[in-house]
Amino acid sequence: ATFEEMDLKEDLLRGIYGYGFEAPSAIQSRAIMQIISGRDTIAQAQSGTGKTATFTIGMLEVIDTKNKETQALVLSPTRELAVQIQNVVKALGDHMNIRTHACIGGTHVGEDVKVLQRGQHIVSGTPGRVKDMIAKGNLSVKNIKMLILDEADELLTKGFQAQIYDIYRFLPPATQVVVVSATLTREVLEMTNKFMSDPVRILV
Ligand code: AMP
Repeated sequence: ATFEEMDLKEDLLRGIYGYGFEAPSAIQSRAIMQIISGRDTIAQAQSGTGKTATFTIGMLEVIDTKNKETQALVLSPTRELAVQIQNVVKALGDHMNIRTHACIGGTHVGEDVKVLQRGQHIVSGTPGRVKDMIAKGNLSVKNIKMLILDEADELLTKGFQAQIYDIYRFLPPATQVVVVSATLTREVLEMTNKFMSDPVRILV
């Protein structure tokens, strides 16, 4: 398959080629259209296989850039990863006027609040700061359509579990959930039942 065959928005396709991608990787071929269809998705593939671009392309396709509200939220276990994802969003969304913010611990809270209040289509963050910003009303979740849990094996086993549930409970009931991970233990898979409905599981 090609990226053209995915029938993506023209400005997104330009971002993908502009970033240097020529053809989709295996996980991209199998998971992008599932994600765009709105179905809860579990995408499992080793690191280095193009997972970040898989969910980023999915998010960018469903976001309405005319609406400045936050429409997709990505949670990652580390600040570095959250920033890396934000950079991929910026690069692939380069022709879309995409507004994106890394909402992570260790940064100035007042700055974070200001940037969020200006409106950000996609927020990529770590659970603690994101939860804090939602709870205090600085990150509006009412237009969120998609929640991505990256490195879900770590997110759902380390100390983050309670925060993830708290964040999930704030989100609109119809929010699509996408779980991405290199490994998924039985324990983590069982946990996903609590916030996914009838997910499709893609294993590469
Ligand atoms: P990831 O698995 O998300 O860490 O991505 C691994 C690397 O593969 C990154 O440097 C991506 O920029 C690159 N990559 C992802 N998808 C593609 C693609 N379709 N074509 C070429 N490189 C890609």
